[in-house]
Amino acid sequence: MDGRRDGAQVDRYVFDFTEGSMSEKDRLGGKGANLAEMVRLGLPVPPGFTITTDACRYFLAHGEEPAQLPDEVSTHLARMESEMGRRLGATAEPLLVSVRSGAKFSMPGMMETVLNIGLNDDSVAGLAAASGSERFAWDSYRRLVQMFGRTVMGVDGEVFETRIEELKTERGVEADTGLTADDLRSLVESFKRAIHAATGRDFPQDPREQLDAAIRAVFTSWTGERAVLYRRQERIPHDLGTAVNVQAMVFGNLSDDSGTGVCFTRDPATGATGVYGDFLMNAQGEDVVAGIRNTSPLAELEHVSPAAYVELRAAMDRLEGHYRDLCDIEFTIERGRLWMLQTRVGKRTAEAAFRIACQLVDEGVIDAHEALRRVTGQQLSMLMFPRFATDSSARVLTRAVAASPGAAVGAIVFDSATAARRAAAGEDVILVRAETTPDDLEGMIAARGILTSRGGKTSHAAVVARGMGKTCVCGAESLVVDVANRSLMVRGEAGHILHEGDVISIDGSTGGVFEGAVDVVPSPVVDFFEGRTVPDEGAAEVVRAVARIMAIADDARRLKVRANADTPEDAARAVRFGAEGIGLCRTEHMFLGERRELVEHLILAEGDAEREGALEALRPLQKQDFVEIFRAMGDRPVTVRLIDPPLHEFLPNLVDLTVDEALATERGESDPGRRRMLAAVERLHESNPMFGLRGVRLGIARPGLFAMQIRAILEAFVEVRRTGHRGTVEIMVPLVDSVEELDLVRAEALEIARAHGEDPGPGEPVSIGTMMELPRACLTAGAIAGSADFFSFGTNDLTQTTWGFSRDDVESSFFSTYLEKGVFPVSPFETLDVDGVGRLITLAVSEGRARKATLKTGVCGEHGGDPESVDFFHRAGLDYVSCSPFRVPIARLEAGRAAVAARD
Ligand code: PEP
Ligand code: MG
Repeated sequence: MDGRRDGAQVDRYVFDFTEGSMSEKDRLGGKGANLAEMVRLGLPVPPGFTITTDACRYFLAHGEEPAQLPDEVSTHLARMESEMGRRLGATAEPLLVSVRSGAKFSMPGMMETVLNIGLNDDSVAGLAAASGSERFAWDSYRRLVQMFGRTVMGVDGEVFETRIEELKTERGVEADTGLTADDLRSLVESFKRAIHAATGRDFPQDPREQLDAAIRAVFTSWTGERAVLYRRQERIPHDLGTAVNVQAMVFGNLSDDSGTGVCFTRDPATGATGVYGDFLMNAQGEDVVAGIRNTSPLAELEHVSPAAYVELRAAMDRLEGHYRDLCDIEFTIERGRLWMLQTRVGKRTAEAAFRIACQLVDEGVIDAHEALRRVTGQQLSMLMFPRFATDSSARVLTRAVAASPGAAVGAIVFDSATAARRAAAGEDVILVRAETTPDDLEGMIAARGILTSRGGKTSHAAVVARGMGKTCVCGAESLVVDVANRSLMVRGEAGHILHEGDVISIDGSTGGVFEGAVDVVPSPVVDFFEGRTVPDEGAAEVVRAVARIMAIADDARRLKVRANADTPEDAARAVRFGAEGIGLCRTEHMFLGERRELVEHLILAEGDAEREGALEALRPLQKQDFVEIFRAMGDRPVTVRLIDPPLHEFLPNLVDLTVDEALATERGESDPGRRRMLAAVERLHESNPMFGLRGVRLGIARPGLFAMQIRAILEAFVEVRRTGHRGTVEIMVPLVDSVEELDLVRAEALEIARAHGEDPGPGEPVSIGTMMELPRACLTAGAIAGSADFFSFGTNDLTQTTWGFSRDDVESSFFSTYLEKGVFPVSPFETLDVDGVGRLITLAVSEGRARKATLKTGVCGEHGGDPESVDFFHRAGLDYVSCSPFRVPIARLEAGRAAVAARD
């Protein structure tokens, strides 16, 4: 950390807009840097200056402004006054200024803008004379006292709103515009009294005092509750601080040839080029946002204010060419003269991000790698969810927090038990709650989607739904959930009530909640990955853009991408989605369904002969599974993991069996089979199965089980090879803690492989390696590498065991609290914990490779498909990532982005 991050003294704290540039966001904040850049480009920006983030950090560290700040502000203010030919708050023709916060990243929760600083009981008359409008002057003063009272002096904003409403009722007018200059004058007086009553202080009449107080309020807002929470969620460092921009006011509400508006250089929803934006004549920025009057489309400005329009279009072209990206712009026209108030690289939808990146390549503005940098795996994942048909006429009930993506349709249910019951009867349901708790888990699992009226992205509902991959909309505050009456009321729409069983549709990608069933349409991007759409001329532009960027990513990436697949169907889909192999074929599902009975025979077997018989019955079935998977994967590598879960997972539930047995005994019945089963289940019962007899422990403690699987793998492999298949198979041992465990299994596997004519080793058709999913394995990676041909990091278990978290328990009980309190910014099961789990991986890779240079390394936990984690795996030097087939394209894209980023 440099001295400045400590809030230590620097030479200067204030820079004129003419002195900075867009590369100085750290010091000037995003807004200040972009204003300075517009000045550099010669665009018409009202004069002003930026107080740096250094000053804010100093304030936060010392509880007061740097001593030199007032003098510096005076110098820059004087320069601004001489440029404008007016003095701040002068009695005649006063200069007025705005004060805006502006951190490096735009952040909700920071202090809102204060306009019209400089007005007081005297200068209001000067403004009236200069503008020729008493009403305008008193309205401006009214706005200042209101904004200042609320944001700087901390008075509840309702106080002011109530007084305005009372006065309007008294005067019998509907809109603010119906109030006269005298009305506004009386409002100012009443606001001033309200401020005094609430704070014991007067609204300051001294313009400079107003300015200094507003600047300080911006600094203070950095540590406001909402701002701190937002930074935590978005992982923005708390020690950045905010800059403050002080700018001369220009007025869009001065006359009929004045106005204000916002525009984009391209459509931020689709990326299409054209003229996008809205404006409102004779209005200030806040009027546009407040929606008091309907705005007009930007194209109409050409007729209303032709000169300003031509100048604005030229400025738009200039900015887009300069930033080489979609820009979003705020402007004001004062008496026919254009002023640029703000610009920034504009936010956009996922579809627009892909389309714009390709458009800019075609226009020769950016190169292919830059296009790859401009999109994210997160955006690609958004494009891969099924979505609601856009032509639906369904009524929008509300728009709330998009907490877990997807589109879900179902009948409203208000509690977990009803959700489970109706879902079991085959109905699609949406669980609607004020907020969820661990008690709702069963219902959440049963529901198609979850809707809550409270909470945000880190609420219990959001965290658990994301963990389950289930659609969720949170914080729908305009819906009142009345569980007692089994109804959902739309706030502000008396009588609009939905009841249990009524169908709603929720969009977890946009936060939309709709009445009735909205048609769900498949994603065109998934159709492309599935091979159902060819990205040619006839395809949607977004499909062509995704196809192009995927090709750039595949070309750039070093990491290979594999899939976790355990059925031939999943394997085939993975290949269509671009997987270069299977990184994890879990074998346990091969023991379920009709085969469960065979597993029961195995567990209940008495003596070697019975056990052998049970294993022999399973072997041909397992072999056939592998044959089909190897065929689906063609010449690609397949990693098969030997059975991992504890055996009792394949047996009936202990409680059910005990109850059955007790009831039977009471009836005087006797069933020796059930009694035997009960005895076995009791014997195998573990109080902590995650740490019990599973993985390699099972392989060692139950001789014959792994051997049967290894035989089945080799028989299948040899058979498929005979048909010309050139793939490879990697036999993987789960849950290894020590090299001794691995040695025992390896010796057995080598013997079986050799009996089938194979000699396993690195780079051979058959290899034997281990999962790295326990801390001890990582800490002893050098020794383990001596007996492993490859390492595959099982980051699901490695996260559980490094943190000591049982995922099933912690996610639904206290993770939302941990996220809200900032213990971590994101669940370590979603994004790899680089500091802890990542460190074990780095250590294991380096010690493993030091022992065996040919050691292959990959990851097969869910993090293999998480955008941020893929970047870490690239930097950690792994050979591949493996994830669910659906996330393979996301991993390919992110692997390309990681490679490009690492080259910079
Ligand atoms: C892991 O632990 O990361 C892993 C892939 O294994 P499983 O999720 O099957 O425990
Ligand atoms: Mg595991």
